[in-house]
Amino acid sequence: MSLLEMFTYPFMVKALIAAFFSGLASPAIGTYLVQKRLSLMGDGIGHVAVTGVALGLLTGASPTWTAVAVAILGAVTIELIRERGNTNGDLALALLFYGGIAAGLMITGIAGQSAQTLNSFLFGGLLSINWGDVFVTIVLASVVLLLCIGLGPQLFAVAQDAEFARVAGLRVRFYNLLVAVLAAVTVTVAMRTVGLLLVSALMVVPVATAQQVTRSFRTTLAAAMGLGVFAALAGLIISAYVSSTVTVQSGPSIVLVALGCFVLAWPTGSLLRRRQRLREPFAPLAPLGHEISDEHPHQHGDDCGHPAIPHGDHVDYVHNGHRHAAHGEHYDEH
Ligand SMILES: [Zn+2]
Ligand SMILES: [Zn+2]
Ligand SMILES: [Zn+2]
Ligand SMILES: [Zn+2]
Repeated sequence: MSLLEMFTYPFMVKALIAAFFSGLASPAIGTYLVQKRLSLMGDGIGHVAVTGVALGLLTGASPTWTAVAVAILGAVTIELIRERGNTNGDLALALLFYGGIAAGLMITGIAGQSAQTLNSFLFGGLLSINWGDVFVTIVLASVVLLLCIGLGPQLFAVAQDAEFARVAGLRVRFYNLLVAVLAAVTVTVAMRTVGLLLVSALMVVPVATAQQVTRSFRTTLAAAMGLGVFAALAGLIISAYVSSTVTVQSGPSIVLVALGCFVLAWPTGSLLRRRQRLREPFAPLAPLGHEISDEHPHQHGDDCGHPAIPHGDHVDYVHNGHRHAAHGEHYDEH
């Protein structure tokens, strides 16, 4: 089929809608995971969710709902293990991940389903998606996006510096669990598009790419979402386009497009970082104070050219060798 013809097929329209929402939601929650140094969390949840899909196949319930339930259960368990931070935590997570994928394969077999059925959940198989799945994808993705953007300042503060956020009176544990649950929901949203074993890539790679060229948190979030949508749509179209001759699932082609963007952005990022180091060497974080800066007519912002450094719940701008933070009508020295 030609590229234009593609958009007239109903299965392709459904697939494009699901890919669009997966591409939007995955990097949104992924931005917080990367910031918390939990880039592999989505991968772990994906492994656990395999058992959820299998339970759906076994019981005849919708695999989407059983996957959501098991993924949330797994994510909360992972977060609770991580929170305790002891050395056996790492091992406990490994057991959970392998248990999830092994039990999933076992239950699928018992359910009398072929590996092929599970395959589309593991690596993406948008062409089999129905309108019910599309509807659920839109609803769940909207919830994730609403919370990721609406609670941005709180989630950002907790991800950036949990100790500082706790002192500032935020319920750190609640927000950590919320991020885990939203990651689980996102894994299920993107399951049909990129697949459970590759979903983490769509959560993390666009964020890594955005970080090459953006400095503030807001622009990173926005750019990562844009890149996620691009990778999801381009990857899907590529896989559909070549599938008249060969079989390429949507997951691998989406992930490769996302990685391709990263490879293109990386030289720019390394150039920007080098120039920034030469221009503005700055001292390590000073303790939080409230020194009001002198007269300062210039308004700092995303594109003012001064390096922006996330600091607790706000952003400092490096300027003449010191750091300014907007505070109401004036700037504080930090
Ligand atoms: Zn400035
Ligand atoms: Zn500051
Ligand atoms: Zn300044
Ligand atoms: Zn002030």
